[in-house]
Amino acid sequence: MTAPQPLIAGNWKMNGLSDSLTEAEAIAEGAAQAKARVAICPPALLIPEMSRRLAGSKVAVGGQDAHWEDAGAHTGDISAPMLADAGARMVILGHSERRSGHCETDHVVADKVRASLRAGLEPIVCVGESLEERKSGRALAVVTGQVRGSLPAELAGHAFAVAYEPCWAIGTGLTPTTAEIEEMHRAIRATLVEMFGATAEDVPILYGGSVKPSNAAEILHAAEVGGALVGGASLKARDFLAIVQAA
Ligand code: PEP
Repeated sequence: MTAPQPLIAGNWKMNGLSDSLTEAEAIAEGAAQAKARVAICPPALLIPEMSRRLAGSKVAVGGQDAHWEDAGAHTGDISAPMLADAGARMVILGHSERRSGHCETDHVVADKVRASLRAGLEPIVCVGESLEERKSGRALAVVTGQVRGSLPAELAGHAFAVAYEPCWAIGTGLTPTTAEIEEMHRAIRATLVEMFGATAEDVPILYGGSVKPSNAAEILHAAEVGGALVGGASLKARDFLAIVQAA
């Protein structure tokens, strides 16, 4: 059986103006022969033009969040059908910056996953423990609980990914040890198989949190790591491509 292709997804967060589209074009050019699947999730306003410029390339474009309803009175929000209409093929959901900064619970994340499926998007569902939860020995229980609560049964038979992102590793330069990453990814895999059966063996479990060119190869070759969700290092084509090549 061939191993599923790894997925390397860049999360630009609230960074990038229209002149950053040239960086995305450089990524698409450099990733043309990549073994991994590659995605960039820019700020929503850049999605239509980025999708147009990267059409036909190896790089998919994704959103960073979507509302749980398809349309309605939700000032300032963006729906999954809007993302798909703008050219997105994926969407990051339940990122810790949304869980903590926008009070998103597992229940809300699961509803957003359902909305993304209705729109035909591939969700990348983020989970991860806080530093306090890791220090108190609760990391495995917290993260597997988030997996159970954030992934609805409707995902069965659909393409999706899970991203394990310890909150304390995001943007800090800190990373868990390889053994800690493998332990968590194995626990997530076991939970996915319990929930969805043997087909969940192929669901990519990405690692996210301070992935950079210097640590990418070790992280990406760890057991049960099926790719990476990359924040800061995805903003520069040279760094992001070095991570893509390490997969
Ligand atoms: C992220 O926020 O998804 C992330 C992984 O950020 P960074 O790579 O900057 O730690």
